[in-house]
Amino acid sequence: MAIRPIVKWGHPALHSAAKPVLNIDGAIVALVNDMVETMYAAPGIGLAAPQIAVPLRVIVIDLSVSEDPKQLIRLVNPEFVEQEGEQWEEEGCLSVPKFGGSPSRPARVSVRGLDLDGKEQVITATQLLARAFCHEIDHIDGLLFVDRLSPLKRDLMKRKLRKKIRSGDWED
Ligand SMILES: [Zn+2]
Repeated sequence: MAIRPIVKWGHPALHSAAKPVLNIDGAIVALVNDMVETMYAAPGIGLAAPQIAVPLRVIVIDLSVSEDPKQLIRLVNPEFVEQEGEQWEEEGCLSVPKFGGSPSRPARVSVRGLDLDGKEQVITATQLLARAFCHEIDHIDGLLFVDRLSPLKRDLMKRKLRKKIRSGDWED
């Protein structure tokens, strides 16, 4: 296992849709293990493969950040089965450090995907877990929370982000 560098807003991998995984082989298992380790090291509650510049539809989520092994979710090719209601809470992103926003999210979601054995899993979630699914599935669709803000807030944040990149304040 290895901690991989997390790419930031402006990196092309974050702004285009990722491809479905066709075959869950050893390379995918290794990718998922690296994603979990990278998420815990950050630390964060979720990570999508595009955030480590891998354009594949793979996400990991652990609201407990490694405290409770039962809470670790690893999903390949996740997709929404249902979305219902609405919630707005503050969100951050490891790829947009020091920024936050409150995009509209569904109150309840059902998500379908494959586990590492290729078995279909369906998970229903509310509150923070529902938001985490939306946030990570957005990543594999090439969207960041910034893209979900109102036009005014989005443009303001993008101006600030471009300024950070120009000033060289955006690299690790
Ligand atoms: Zn994120």
